[in-house]
Amino acid sequence: STQVETLEFQAETRQLLQLMVHSIYSNKDIFLRELISNASDALDKLRLEAFRDKELAVDLADPRVEIETDREQRTLTVRDNGIGMSRDEVVGLIGTIAKSGTAELLQKMQQQETTSGPAAKELIGQFGVGFYSSFMVADRISLLTKRAGEKQATRWESNGDATYTIETVDDAPQGTAVTLHLKPADDEDNLFDYTSEWKIRELVRRYSDFITWPIKMEIESKDSEGENKRELKTLNSMKALWARARDEVSDKEYNDFYKHVSHDWRDPLEIIPLRAEGTFEYQALLFLPAHAPADLFTRDAKRGVQLYVKRVFIMDNCETLLPEYLRFVKGVVDAQDLSLNVSREILQQDRQISLIRRRLTKKVLSSVQSLLNDDVERYRSLWTEFGAAVKEGLLSDPDNRDTILELVSFSSTHDPKQQTTLRQYVERMKEGQRHIYYMTGSSRSIIESSPHMEAFRAKGYEVLLLTDAVDEVWVDSVTEFDGTPLQSIAKGEAGLETDEEKEASETERDEKQKEFADLLAWMTGKLTEHVKEVRLSTRLTTSAACLVSAADDMTPAMERMYRAMGQ
Ligand code: ADP
Ligand code: MG
Repeated sequence: STQVETLEFQAETRQLLQLMVHSIYSNKDIFLRELISNASDALDKLRLEAFRDKELAVDLADPRVEIETDREQRTLTVRDNGIGMSRDEVVGLIGTIAKSGTAELLQKMQQQETTSGPAAKELIGQFGVGFYSSFMVADRISLLTKRAGEKQATRWESNGDATYTIETVDDAPQGTAVTLHLKPADDEDNLFDYTSEWKIRELVRRYSDFITWPIKMEIESKDSEGENKRELKTLNSMKALWARARDEVSDKEYNDFYKHVSHDWRDPLEIIPLRAEGTFEYQALLFLPAHAPADLFTRDAKRGVQLYVKRVFIMDNCETLLPEYLRFVKGVVDAQDLSLNVSREILQQDRQISLIRRRLTKKVLSSVQSLLNDDVERYRSLWTEFGAAVKEGLLSDPDNRDTILELVSFSSTHDPKQQTTLRQYVERMKEGQRHIYYMTGSSRSIIESSPHMEAFRAKGYEVLLLTDAVDEVWVDSVTEFDGTPLQSIAKGEAGLETDEEKEASETERDEKQKEFADLLAWMTGKLTEHVKEVRLSTRLTTSAACLVSAADDMTPAMERMYRAMGQ
């Protein structure tokens, strides 16, 4: 081997290293994800390069990532037989910071003029910092690498201060081995020691399970004679189900995967795979659960799907990918063109993410529509579990309001056992009926015994019975369904008559109004603290009187709600 050179890190890199070495960021585990992701990239690049250049003398046999730990030496090695790096590449890639994410991180840190406070801690977690994150857990790192097709190899070493050493060595296997000399363990019982086989298996499964290359480690086990033996085992499942065609994957595999991502022990109600090709490539695998979680309506419940970038797990509960009213949807989105260092903040402003979100939303809604059309039993069970959440979309997602209006179903006076969609309601509307009638209230029986119902019952008009809390809210902003206006039977003019009936009854009412004027004035005076006005009504058949809200007044239930909130 040649002589060892000592070189200085770039100023920027030194800054970053300082940060890592003194890091108090709690989730140090992510370093392994970064190393594995680099190894996986190196295998991808090797495959690509061998494909482009058939002359290249590369070893394509048995591509893999290998992890090796040594308890005594306190080392952890991540090795791959991928593309490797030339000496220049090591200096260029490992010695400098070219990554935009990292540059951005440093810039933010400078803005905050702090390198250790809680703010810095958060930033590290958001950006991830690739190779250098290993300095959170190691006080010395050595890297041995040989580029595919080249003769000589390179050894690089640093303890994270201002300099690193580099030397050319005569021989090494193709690919890269990164060896971490671990800092003394924090935990006395060593439970979270990175040389523990259990810990490594756990981290691989959590962060890198769907890496498409095998991640192997020698595992100790007993053979049939009870002797200890060591054998190389693959730790990751490598099953990127979302990247496989639907007819290649069994329902059992989908269901197992659903249980893995959702922590639900039951099978999902519906599986929704989708993929987009072209300039912005992504795959998604979504699930509609069969049962609502207990916390569906609590404010701080976790929601959202998992985000992967190129098979590398990035985050759980990525809430930007679906609107809040679809918070019960589980699954994975794997985008090809995002940075691994993408943060939640960046995601919120990313145009590509908002395109994915639009598409996923439409896809979920159209899946519900297909259930409604083709498998009404499953639709009903979905609606019982999640309907109240979906209805929030009538208010929060005006772009999809028309689609959602086709999906919602309600109890109605038409059939005490079965809910109805608006479409079905409209098909049953009586000759001369111009509105979809509804009434909100806390239960079916309360609404049905309301005096407001009488005239509608007499006419044979169907009334929707809206009993979810959210119904009070959306009815104020949704005024019609496919051209037919929605009308509360408890508000304003009921609009029961046809035009001719209206004219006739208006003259009649005017006369009656005059006849009863004194009585009505007297009653209004007596009740002045409780009502605005006492009017003659055409809506009652058997009750003597009922309370009606003005068209723009709150419904009684809304009033109760606001009063409960102390307003
Ligand atoms: P990123 O992966 O986002 O580019 P990293 O800090 O993780 O940033 O790595 C920096 C660069 O070092 C990589 O882009 C890659 O070119 C090179 N590199 C790191 N690890 C390996 C490896 N195992 N094999 C080949 N190249 C590697
Ligand atoms: Mg990386």
